[in-house]
Amino acid sequence: MASTEGVMIHPAVDHGIKPGNASFSGGTLSCHCSSNPVKVRVGGQTAHNHVCGCTKCWKPDGAIFSQVAVVSRDAVEVVQGADKLEIVNADAPIQRHRCKDCGVHMYGRIENKDHPFYGLDFVHTELSSEDGWSAPEFAAFVSSIIESGVDPSRMDGIRSRLRELGLEPYDALSPPLMDAIATHIAKRSGALAA
Ligand SMILES: [Zn+2]
Ligand SMILES: [Zn+2]
Repeated sequence: MASTEGVMIHPAVDHGIKPGNASFSGGTLSCHCSSNPVKVRVGGQTAHNHVCGCTKCWKPDGAIFSQVAVVSRDAVEVVQGADKLEIVNADAPIQRHRCKDCGVHMYGRIENKDHPFYGLDFVHTELSSEDGWSAPEFAAFVSSIIESGVDPSRMDGIRSRLRELGLEPYDALSPPLMDAIATHIAKRSGALAA
């Protein structure tokens, strides 16, 4: 097994994972601006929290993974600084709304009603000072960290560290989420009864 010493994944998991609180009912995300931060109220517990190695998710300085979860879009409300938000790429399936000043992504939204995850927004719960958010459960798109410049020779150590933390590494999403996507597609094509 590769050495996991000194392998850093993300600040929210590097020192052990904080358990979620089943009765937690939401909190407020703030961007990194010291004055007039963008604030987004998330009025509910998140689900499917995970670390993600893709090149599109927002990562804090120095982290090779993001930490990202989903919540119903109805539960997400910009409560301050809406004028500072811009969409990173309006053509992407997930429209990530970031603060123009500090670059932090406040929420990612899907506008295509045919998308398997339509109705869910993507949020980074580390932007909240509240404790109790759902805990990260797995690692997605692990091989993609190479695309952001991680040397491939480090991958064994990184996957070992993820397993040590209880974050099973996958090179796409987790099997339940991949199955949910495939089921959605099969129902649309008629391969499965809707
Ligand atoms: Zn900001
Ligand atoms: Zn990602």
